[in-house]
Amino acid sequence: MSFVEMDHIRKNFGSLEVLKDVSLHMDAGEVVSIIGPSGSGKSTFLRCLCQLETIDKGSITVDGDAMVSQPAGDGRSVYASPSHVRAICRRMGMCFQHFNLFPHMTVLDNILEAPRIVKGMKTNEIMPTAEALLKKVGLWDKRDEYPSRLSGGQQQRVAIARALAMNPDIMLFDEPTSALDPELTGEVLRTIKQLADEDMTMIIVTHEMAFAREVADRILFMADGIVQEEGTPDQIFEHPQNERTQNFLKSML
Ligand code: ADP
Ligand code: MG
Repeated sequence: MSFVEMDHIRKNFGSLEVLKDVSLHMDAGEVVSIIGPSGSGKSTFLRCLCQLETIDKGSITVDGDAMVSQPAGDGRSVYASPSHVRAICRRMGMCFQHFNLFPHMTVLDNILEAPRIVKGMKTNEIMPTAEALLKKVGLWDKRDEYPSRLSGGQQQRVAIARALAMNPDIMLFDEPTSALDPELTGEVLRTIKQLADEDMTMIIVTHEMAFAREVADRILFMADGIVQEEGTPDQIFEHPQNERTQNFLKSML
């Protein structure tokens, strides 16, 4: 069994079919990058995994633990109990385009907040982890600053450290650099690359093709709510089979 198994996911917003039967199996330690044109359902797919959206059909299992199951026949998916779903989602760290740091808290308090509130940990219990994480993203010296005093790249690195403070088993990134000025993307991508080198399991939605190629074990090309093509970075970038993939990659040059 794979670490994450998302099978035949379908999701509609009203009459709009956004995910039309999308599946992804990934092993622990694997890095999967999802690429594709805007509006193809990439964000929705990630949001379905961490339950920011519910799915209509399909099943999701994480580490052998069923979060959503598809009953036999044609019915809608059935969720595990809310507390069980929350427990599974707590194993996921998320990092989005807009960093959504708490503006009224210092960098350090941003890191400490979730372990305090969600896990009921005391500040002195979390401090060693918080210090290690802020050093890892190169921002320990900014621990007493407020987010508005940091560059976008620094804020996104704090957001990554904040997600890591919950000790997730999988990290989900949705276009983590697309709100950044080009000169600031490198520092964020390097941080994510470092996580990949440490065997963090990750799904990364990105428009940074060179980065996807470098960091991912596997690439999914999505368009129109379907995985049109999937393969190793070499297969997708050197020998794309699908005409849609070929045209998309040309448009990204
Ligand atoms: P991508 O991340 O690939 O750009 P999204 O998953 O954000 O694509 O969106 C896919 C489609 O679903 C788009 O047409 C978008 O407008 C629509 N969509 C996304 N979220 C919602 C929502 N909450 N309500 C209605 N439509 C939505
Ligand atoms: Mg998106």
